Amino acid sequence: MIDAEHIAVLTGAGISTASGIPDFRGPQGLWTKNPAAAAMFDIDEYVASRAVRVEAWKFRLTAPAWTAEPNPGHLALVDLERQGRLTGLITQNVDGLHQKAGSSPAIVHELHGTVWYVDCLECTRRIPMADVLTRLEAGDEDPACVVCGGILKSATVSFGQSLDQRVLDAAVAATEAADVFLAVGTSLQVYPAAGLCDIALAAGKPLVILNAEPTPYDEQATTVLHTPIETTLPTLVT
Ligand SMILES: [Zn+2]
Repeated sequence: MIDAEHIAVLTGAGISTASGIPDFRGPQGLWTKNPAAAAMFDIDEYVASRAVRVEAWKFRLTAPAWTAEPNPGHLALVDLERQGRLTGLITQNVDGLHQKAGSSPAIVHELHGTVWYVDCLECTRRIPMADVLTRLEAGDEDPACVVCGGILKSATVSFGQSLDQRVLDAAVAATEAADVFLAVGTSLQVYPAAGLCDIALAAGKPLVILNAEPTPYDEQATTVLHTPIETTLPTLVT
């Protein structure tokens, strides 16, 4: 159990697999089973090819995120916030399950964006994903921006796109404000997310890792747990 008063938490795909959302790189991951699917997440391929966009929207139309429910792992972090011990909930996930569980939107820093909104790549107008899903269901395979005709894309960070600097700054601030850094369900192989561990370690803060598979940071961590998140996290932080 972590008894620190100020904890920063970084979450990755592993916290949402128990909610039925497959990860990308794991044994049952999207890219492991279908490497061609990775093209949908590359900004250059997405912009260049209507066929890639059509595939990407088909994928969005049936995404498990629309019906997934938070699991006890997400709920444990809501509890941590209510105890006043959470300096920030930094996530690599785009599924919105932390907010659906009850975490305050202001405290959730979505490093890789969100599937719940859509951005126009031309005029940068942001609209709810639900509006685009309605158009997809009506047969529009590659919906364009109704204002400028530009290409629409989910408000997620694709390969080749940079992270939102304000979100990254908030994640760093949350890490610096904490006494302990807790990484949950992330392989810690994607930067700059994994680099938050370096910031915590450089400041001499304990690093706690809860993940099914080993990570590159295990040797530097104070505690490493390879147990199921949905049962371990509630006992770890509450
Ligand atoms: Zn537009």
